[in-house]
Amino acid sequence: MKNYYDILGVPKSATEEEIKKAFRKLAQKYHPDKKGGDEAKFKEASEAYAVLSDKKKRAEYDTYGKTFAGGGGQGFGGFDFSQGAPFGAGFGGNGQAFEFDLGDIFSEFFGQGGQRANRGRDISIDIELSFKEAVFGTERRVLISKMGVCQVCAGTGAKSGSKMTTCTSCNGKGSIRETRNSLFGTFTQERLCPRCKGKGEVPETPCEHCHGEGIAKREEEIHIVVPAGVDDGEMIRMPGRGEATSAGSAGDLYVKLHVRKDTRFTRDGNTLTTSLSVKLSDALLGGTYTIPTLDGEEKINVPAGVEHGELIRVRGKGIPYGRGSRGDLMVRIDIQFPKKLSRKAKEAIEELRKEGL
Ligand SMILES: [Zn+2]
Ligand SMILES: [Zn+2]
Repeated sequence: MKNYYDILGVPKSATEEEIKKAFRKLAQKYHPDKKGGDEAKFKEASEAYAVLSDKKKRAEYDTYGKTFAGGGGQGFGGFDFSQGAPFGAGFGGNGQAFEFDLGDIFSEFFGQGGQRANRGRDISIDIELSFKEAVFGTERRVLISKMGVCQVCAGTGAKSGSKMTTCTSCNGKGSIRETRNSLFGTFTQERLCPRCKGKGEVPETPCEHCHGEGIAKREEEIHIVVPAGVDDGEMIRMPGRGEATSAGSAGDLYVKLHVRKDTRFTRDGNTLTTSLSVKLSDALLGGTYTIPTLDGEEKINVPAGVEHGELIRVRGKGIPYGRGSRGDLMVRIDIQFPKKLSRKAKEAIEELRKEGL
């Protein structure tokens, strides 16, 4: 896959404004409705823009070289034109999402509220995990307040027992024609009927709970499966678990993971490191020590003559990865040199000195 920055012709350090400008230029050049346009190039630029103009997606792309998908979801395979303008979502403090609309630039091409702009908003939430939960994976049930399918009418928008009648705005077609001026000239386009939202019919008596919209604000419990081996700052994408919309598919839910530190361990990729204080005598003569691991305590042998700062590898006690594989735990030896020596100890060390040690 081509680098999105190269596609837009901007450096990795480009500002949002520079990215927008670069895309606007390419979009005007390649727009398929334009003479000499190039649909493939236009799509390529749009895909790059959809990612780089979204703070979160850009961060994911910079970190992983792709946008992250979790929970068996699909990766971000490019921006689908039939789905309309992508929406970014930001984090609110308490799991509440606020969002900003990236659609303005796209509306120049597609028209606002048109047939394509019919995807629910994405939602972002943050969850905090203990170090161990991040290593072994966990599950969470989170209550989210969002626009969802109305549970009273099951999304039909009709009051129970109400008949459906043909929409008078579009005569049952579901769409209306409109003429629009844009950067590229005048277009006539089919636009989704705003009254029936493309269904062609409307309920005679609308559902009282959702006022006929078929969607309503509600609390939904979301079951989040956090896979083993995740790291701080990673994101899980749950397709279709964002906000519903009365016409079109639901947005996505993004779960940002915050992992608490464990003072006993530091993590580097799949390797964990812990520090072990070793007595001077044990460093010289060898000894057995108990160390903490994420799976519980474990005994290790410290060999005679171990050096300060030396690493002892404990296989398979690190971070899980792939299918059933696990990294290692490295134990860093920290030799404790006595600050004070008893008379007897001094004599013993004098003996060592005589031996030339
Ligand atoms: Zn309803
Ligand atoms: Zn209609």
